[in-house]
Amino acid sequence: MKQAIGGKKKIAAIKGTKDILPPETRKWQWVENQARELFERYGYRELRAPVFEATELFERGTGTSSDIVLKEMYTFTDKGGRSLTLRPEYTPSVVRAIIEHRLYLQPRPLRFYYIGPMFRYDKPQKGRYRQFHQIDIEVFGEKDAGIDAEIIQMAQALLTKVGVTDYRILINSVGCPRCRPPYVEKLRQAAEQVREALCPDCQRRIELNPLRLFDCKVETCRELAQEFPRITDYLCSECTEHFQQVQAYLDVFGLEYQLEPRLVRGLDYYTKTTFEFVTSALGAQDAILGGGRYDEMMKLFGGPDLCGIGFAVGLERLLSLVTYQPSEAPFIFVAYLGEPAKQAAMKLVATLREVGMECWLEYKERSLRNQLSRANKLGATWTLIIGEDEVKSGRFNLKNMASGEQQEYTSAELLAYFRDYLHSKKSPS
Ligand code: AMP
Repeated sequence: MKQAIGGKKKIAAIKGTKDILPPETRKWQWVENQARELFERYGYRELRAPVFEATELFERGTGTSSDIVLKEMYTFTDKGGRSLTLRPEYTPSVVRAIIEHRLYLQPRPLRFYYIGPMFRYDKPQKGRYRQFHQIDIEVFGEKDAGIDAEIIQMAQALLTKVGVTDYRILINSVGCPRCRPPYVEKLRQAAEQVREALCPDCQRRIELNPLRLFDCKVETCRELAQEFPRITDYLCSECTEHFQQVQAYLDVFGLEYQLEPRLVRGLDYYTKTTFEFVTSALGAQDAILGGGRYDEMMKLFGGPDLCGIGFAVGLERLLSLVTYQPSEAPFIFVAYLGEPAKQAAMKLVATLREVGMECWLEYKERSLRNQLSRANKLGATWTLIIGEDEVKSGRFNLKNMASGEQQEYTSAELLAYFRDYLHSKKSPS
């Protein structure tokens, strides 16, 4: 609640959320369209799941020791007494939908993408919001390391397509249920030795989930973590081989990457490959994109034994790196004088829009001069002038605002002119 207007308290947007206003929305639409177009080329199709789900879905999927479930969920009880949660991430919803609709019976691998809001009750700061947006992709039913490399390559292709170049690709393997527990035990022992020097959060992590020790942002904890054992030294032969293959396939794509043995990611469910794209351009919130494999997840939900892999891009962070300035579409402003002209203008505007042109008129009658100066201010590409004479003759004056050139057309000629114009814009010159 901020200032009072007319005696009423002003209601502001909730902390950690923000309005995306025009013309900024144009940039969002452009990036979203680039992603859609790219993913479809790789065989992905859009899957839209609800914004809220049963709380249990995220407890089971995201993991009860992850920060998301421990601290960051927007959970509420609805009027029917059910515990619901605004999704903090997308993967559990996709897994639920695949099982619920038996999508696993379709030819595999299954490839899905989605663009939409996620919700985390995190401490808001630059690059970190409570409602933020992700572009998310998921693949289910492909064990081969080729897909790990392919999605990393696809992520890179997306960044290239939207003109983002300042990033590094970090990759790691977090092992599997066979090789991770012995490693985690070693890590626990190492952390136990330096317990007193760790922050209270990390001290809790020793018991709860030692892998999270690597996520800590406290400088002393980060320094101590440098000395902790590395998971890649403890991988079983299957995980080692998979990780080597991922790297070999990344080399096939000619991708540059860095091995980062401390990249465990914030979620409990990852197995084998994890990766992140980080940038030096965003300050503390440096991860643009993160992902990995979750081969056990589908089983955990009572589904078939179907492995999965995916990534999520943070749209706010990505957008802050995109410099592209989409231009507004050319449009026609129709100025008129008198009621018969107004009606003729309304009819003409409707037809021009049908043809595919952006076209405006204003309903409050003003002088012609006033309307033309409006057209100028709005940046109209053309102005059409309709007065009493034009209504009678059925001929309208079209003015090109940039060149000042004017020409008369009948309405049929006008429609043909703009049809041709739109056609020439679509076909490559
Ligand atoms: P995660 O699901 O935590 O792996 O996050 C994937 C991506 O989403 C990150 O790399 C960020 O770009 C973005 N992201 C995660 N949390 C937030 C947040 N609270 N605000 C803005 N972006 C976020």
